[in-house]
Amino acid sequence: MNATMDLKAKLGVDVFKPGSSAHINIRQGREKDPRLQKMVMICPAGLYSVNEQGETSLTVDGCLECGTCRLLCGNDVLAWAYPEGGTGVQFRCG
Ligand code: SF4
Repeated sequence: MNATMDLKAKLGVDVFKPGSSAHINIRQGREKDPRLQKMVMICPAGLYSVNEQGETSLTVDGCLECGTCRLLCGNDVLAWAYPEGGTGVQFRCG
């Protein structure tokens, strides 16, 4: 592995198999929670974004299953579970 690879290149080595439904969901009405907005900077896979209305959204394709958002946002903001068996991330020295 090239030590000078940037983050996107390293993540691109991993393989992601999508499940039948998202394994992490923002609970209804919590889209403007400040804890979620911080995840835009914190999620190592860059899966959170905030729109002009201040509402945070999330796409789980590429999720590293690190659990950071679960710990920082809590169960009152996120419904978090591991992906169903056979789906999710496969690490390939990324
Ligand atoms: S579990 Fe980790 S990689 Fe997945 S969305 Fe949360 S912070 Fe991002």
